Amino acid sequence: MNSIANNLHTVKNNIPSHVTLVAVSKTKPVSEILEAYNAGQRIFGENKIQEMALKYDEMPKDIEWHMIGHLQRNKVKYMAHFVHLIHGVDSFKTLVEINKQALKHNRVINCLLQLKIAKEDTKFGLSITEVEAILNSEELKELKNIDIKGVMGMASFIEDEAVIRTEFKTLKTFFEKLKRFNLSNFNPTVISMGMSGDYKIAIEEGSTMVRVGSAIFGLRNYS
Ligand SMILES: *Cc1c(COP(=O)(O)O)cnc(C)c1O
Repeated sequence: MNSIANNLHTVKNNIPSHVTLVAVSKTKPVSEILEAYNAGQRIFGENKIQEMALKYDEMPKDIEWHMIGHLQRNKVKYMAHFVHLIHGVDSFKTLVEINKQALKHNRVINCLLQLKIAKEDTKFGLSITEVEAILNSEELKELKNIDIKGVMGMASFIEDEAVIRTEFKTLKTFFEKLKRFNLSNFNPTVISMGMSGDYKIAIEEGSTMVRVGSAIFGLRNYS
């Protein structure tokens, strides 16, 4: 058995059945993604819209494509016809643009709101107050071509497990707090948290969706 298939099996064995595995294939060629596909994987995550669109064109059409990266609003149009879930939504303006592009294709696009849980300033994401303001806004009710499925967060890139665990606990607490909002386009079931280095901790802390790249495909080469 090749190593991508092996790695995939190992990761899957570490994940309970209620947790969804997004195989993060950013920077990896179609040939390698097909190895994971042929081993049964159907959900892939990318962080660049145009790269994902090229791969969508080339690959089997029963794949669910997830956009996990920071979004540039002017590029949402390149994925609006096929994207299954957008993880990194961090502004109301972006929701408006996603809704506009989804409407053009007569689709409803699933989104997650990205919350800032890491202490580092470099991380994107909304505060809980900003999320509550979005969910309270009258304008949100008009966005009938989006469906907000939950939240996404990234822990700090550090070794200290206790800090990582606390950050994941924070996201889980926020998620539970947001469930009180009752809106037709807000149906929270997803907590997207956990990557190759920390997905086991994330699952212990309530993750329902993990985004795992290098543990499946090996290290990325950005050169
Ligand atoms: C790259 C990336 C991942 C996967 O990272 P690995 O450490 O390779 O598992 C997960 N989430 C986001 C947002 C990413 O950009």
